[in-house]
Amino acid sequence: MTRILFWLALALLVYFAIRSKLKASQRRQQQQWEQQQREQQRQANASTSRQVTPPEAMLCCAHCGVHFPASENVPANGRDYCSPAHAPLK
Ligand SMILES: [Zn+2]
Repeated sequence: MTRILFWLALALLVYFAIRSKLKASQRRQQQQWEQQQREQQRQANASTSRQVTPPEAMLCCAHCGVHFPASENVPANGRDYCSPAHAPLK
């Protein structure tokens, strides 16, 4: 009789050990999945914000050396200037 109780207790112990291991691995997988989702969300947000503000080419002023957006360029004599004040008068 004690042998049967011993094997029953052992079987229950093994069952609960396996169950807790499975639960732990499921929790780990769930956390990994959530982390991947967060990572993808962050990448998606980064790509959409990049689409909203595309990078603009920067130019260097031939007079003062400051870097400015190409849309604010004041070309004169084949060179780039940051403002009309720095562009040489013709
Ligand atoms: Zn300048």
